This record gives sequence, structure tokens and C-alpha cells, in this order.
Amino acid sequence: MPRPLVATIHISAMQKNLALARSASPGAKVWAVVKANAYGHGLLNAMRAFDAADGLALIEPENALRLREAGWTRPVMLLEGCFDQEDWRNAAANRFHTVVHCVEQMEMLEALHLSQTVNIYLKLNTGMNRLGFRPGAFRDAYTRLRALPCVNDIAFMTHFANADDPANEAVPWAEQVRAFDEATRGLPGSRSLSNSAADLMHPSVSADWIRPGVMLYGGSPSDTLAQEFGLRAAMTLSSSVIGVQHIGRGDGVGYGSAFVATSPMRVAIIACGYADGYPRHASTGTPVMVCGRQTHTLGRVSMDMLAADITHIPDAGFGSPVELWGDSVPIDAVAKAAGTIGYELMCAVAPRVRMEVKE
Ligand SMILES: *Cc1c(COP(=O)(O)O)cnc(C)c1O
Repeated sequence: MPRPLVATIHISAMQKNLALARSASPGAKVWAVVKANAYGHGLLNAMRAFDAADGLALIEPENALRLREAGWTRPVMLLEGCFDQEDWRNAAANRFHTVVHCVEQMEMLEALHLSQTVNIYLKLNTGMNRLGFRPGAFRDAYTRLRALPCVNDIAFMTHFANADDPANEAVPWAEQVRAFDEATRGLPGSRSLSNSAADLMHPSVSADWIRPGVMLYGGSPSDTLAQEFGLRAAMTLSSSVIGVQHIGRGDGVGYGSAFVATSPMRVAIIACGYADGYPRHASTGTPVMVCGRQTHTLGRVSMDMLAADITHIPDAGFGSPVELWGDSVPIDAVAKAAGTIGYELMCAVAPRVRMEVKE
């Protein structure tokens, strides 16, 4: 029998989250972001779940090709654009909407003299300072692309640094919107700004296309619980108890004896560890559910196992069901206990974890 650890992907939750993303920005089309193997949920699962999306956006050119091979005929966007000329040829042949964020990508395209046309997303850096042309260089980039016979549509995009944190004064999200409006004023072409956080928290940002990612998978883009946004967990990570220890006052649990009991306890050993993608930095107290009851982890997470307190769950024992995260244990709560964000946990589920799909 395989290990009891399973990541169950809920297609209907992804469909509902997509509908919620759409309703939060009425009138906008939706690029469903499926990078990083659909945030760990499986690229082709996402393609099926997001059948109602207007387009799929991702980073990996090879996975963009997989979408076409799997029969996705609607728009596909390469969010970082092309890494070499081969990518440009594939982008043209497969009608990918391709980000151009720097001069070097433009030069590659100019040198190719493609016979097929490409659709471009010209990226503006409005303060994230990761990818994109600065406002002062934006019009020149546009003019230069417009002059190429192989360039068909040119659309415009930027990316928020702090849409999840309206109090951030270093780079306020509204200032990024203003800079985007100013740099693109009068240019013909569609516009795309919002990630999940902006879609959920800043309905005043209006554009032709939104680009939600984490919310589609039921993760929260901010400190607000995903549930409060009405999102549903798209992944349940579940396992079972594979051993029980009865320990007394002064006994330690696991490596480093990082947890020491102050009274007699029952401890469940659960088949899930950091080699499965469970965060090793999750310390004692991280929420977990055993036999449908809330409890918490004890001590350090090992490679293949972790421990949980079942002192107060008398019916828990060998074989009892465990939810590591899902509907009852928010992935963001586990992430918080590990000093990270739900995004990282969902992306990091290891290949050895069995994946099952539920409609
Ligand atoms: C990943 C990504 C998104 C989606 O971000 P979320 O916070 O997951 O909604 C949107 N746009 C770009 C350019 C991205 O790289």
C-alpha cells in the first residue's frame, strides 16, 4: 500500500474561486495564472478547472506548449516573455501573448524577422522594480515594437508590489495605478494590472484583464483569511496516524527534543514531513486536525513524519485520519506558523506526494 499521504485537488473549488475572481472585477477578462504547475495543483487539472477562464498565464515556455498539446486553444500568456529566440519562434507558432519587459527581448525579436505575427504584453515598471520598462523608456519601447511587421497587438501591463497592504507607504498601490495610467495614456491596447490582492481588495482598479493566481487555489493574498474572502481550499493535504506514543512529564519529542512534555500526553506520529513539502520551520503549535478535531504539532518536523498532540482526542489512534491543510486547517495558518505564506507551501508539495483529483 502506498503511504497514506495524499494531496486531493478539488476542481469545483477552483471553478468557484475563478467565478469569485471574475465577479470581483466585473467586466474584466481573466488570465488564470497557472505558473509553477498551477501553484502545485497540476497544470492539466488547472486547465480543466479553469475552462471558463479567458486565458491561461504562466512563466514556463515548455508548459505553455503543453497547454497547446493538451488542447487549450484560447489565449496563453508568457508572464516573463521569452528567454531566447527559440521561445519567440514557439510564441509566434502557438499564438502566445508574450511579455516584453526589457530591451534585450526586443532585440531578439528584431533579429528574427519572423514571418508569423506575435501578440505582445509590454510591461511597465511602476515601482516593483523587478521586471519592466521604466516610465521614461516606455513610449520608446512601444514605438520600436510598433514598427516591427511581425508585431500584431500590443497590450500593457504592470504588477503591484503592495496590493495586499494598503498601509504600505514605500510604494503605495494607488501610486502604481497613477504611474501606469500616465505612461499608457492615449496608447491603443488592452490593459492588465490586478493580481489576486488587487482583485479582492481594490475594486476601483479597472482594466481589461485581471491576473489572479493564488486566490484561484483558495490561498489568501493577504493577512485576511481566505475564508473571509469567500474562497475555498483547492487542495486538501491529508494523511493518517502511523504510530502513537504515551509520554510523561520531562519526555522530549523528535529531533533536538524541541518539545518537552510537562505532563503525561498521547502523541500521534503522522506520515508527512519536510520531504513532502511540509515546512520544517513550522514549530510546536502549528494547527493540524486529527479525527476531525483541531490540535497542533509537537516538536520539529522530520523528513517523513511529524508529531501532534492527541491527549484530548481519545478516539485517535493508529490509522486515524489527519488533515494537514485544507478546508478545516487553512494553508495560510500553517504557513504563518512556519514564517512563510500559503503560496510557498502549495507550490512546494513534493513529487512523492500522491495527487488525487475530485470533481
Ligand atoms: C504570479 C503572478 C500573478 C498572480 O499573482 P497572485 O498574487 O498569485 O494573484 C499575476 N501577475 C504576474 C505577472 C505574476 O507573475
